[in-house]
Amino acid sequence: MAKLIDGKAIAATIREEIKVEVRKIEASVGKVPGLATVLVGSRTDSTTYVRMKRKACEEVGIESFHTELPESVSEEELLSCVERLNADPAVHGILVQLPLPKHINEERILSAISVEKDVDGFHPVNIGKLAMKSRTPRFVPCTPRGCIELLVRSNVSIEGKCAVVLGRSNIVGLPVSLLLLHRNATVIVCHSKTQDLPSVCRQGDILIAAVGRANMVKRDWIKPGAVVIDVGINSIPDASKKNGYRLVGDVDFDDCKDVCGMITPVPGGTGPMTIAMLLRNCCDSAKEAFGLS
Ligand code: NAP
Repeated sequence: MAKLIDGKAIAATIREEIKVEVRKIEASVGKVPGLATVLVGSRTDSTTYVRMKRKACEEVGIESFHTELPESVSEEELLSCVERLNADPAVHGILVQLPLPKHINEERILSAISVEKDVDGFHPVNIGKLAMKSRTPRFVPCTPRGCIELLVRSNVSIEGKCAVVLGRSNIVGLPVSLLLLHRNATVIVCHSKTQDLPSVCRQGDILIAAVGRANMVKRDWIKPGAVVIDVGINSIPDASKKNGYRLVGDVDFDDCKDVCGMITPVPGGTGPMTIAMLLRNCCDSAKEAFGLS
């Protein structure tokens, strides 16, 4: 049986570290970091994610400022909300929960967030710097940063290893592949047009799955002893559950657990790390703003 990478426990450790840092910041400048969350519409998943993020802030002493806007909000109104938060000195991080309604140009909104407050790391300048050699982005997107942190804190060496990333989205696949490249892995990025996925994936000493397809990765896709990070969060029907469904990853955990060396569970793997990295980014941003970094 593979060693379990316990994202929940690692995230809890990081949150404790941040809590201590927030206390130190407050003792030193009399102020705490602040995160602004913006929720447009009432999608159940987005509402839950924002609630979890705000609760996590509260637990570590980060102040959260919340704005809720109706689904019908205009792009101009959302832009002026972002501009107001850009100008607010108590706000060190701005998170506009995605996805946005179809009538709003997501790129325009993300580009309007101040690069200095872009704690989600999706501003084109931050992503652009991430894609370039010898540049340092102000922020790195939270889920990809969480994947790397899981590897580092589990003592997995990345340099020189073959890392296969399944998925190339702006939010996960692409940035995580860039982070692996920065750490000198040899990176293969797979997507919906990749041929013979099982044999490509089987090359990976490290396999990061971020496709959004329940239980897609089977044991014959995995190099024996590989480290598997499962980013997928997919709900499948489960009549034995009160709510009628359960969450599974992109990797068929039961099928694969004996072949890999280490694996993250779903839930309890990358999910908690995403929130921990958001707090990390927010805390780092405040330290920079207060001249403490
Ligand atoms: P996405 O934007 O839908 O991207 C999915 C990627 O997978 C795309 O690059 C797509 O290829 C590729 N893909 C889809 N079906 C495929 C197939 N059959 N074979 C090969 N490649 C395929 O999804 P995402 O936002 O990256 O999210 C991926 C998963 O991670 C989802 O389950 C999501 O819920 C989860 N997630 C988790 C966290 C967390 O905190 N743990 C955070 C964000 C997302 P093309 O580019 O060719 O279309």
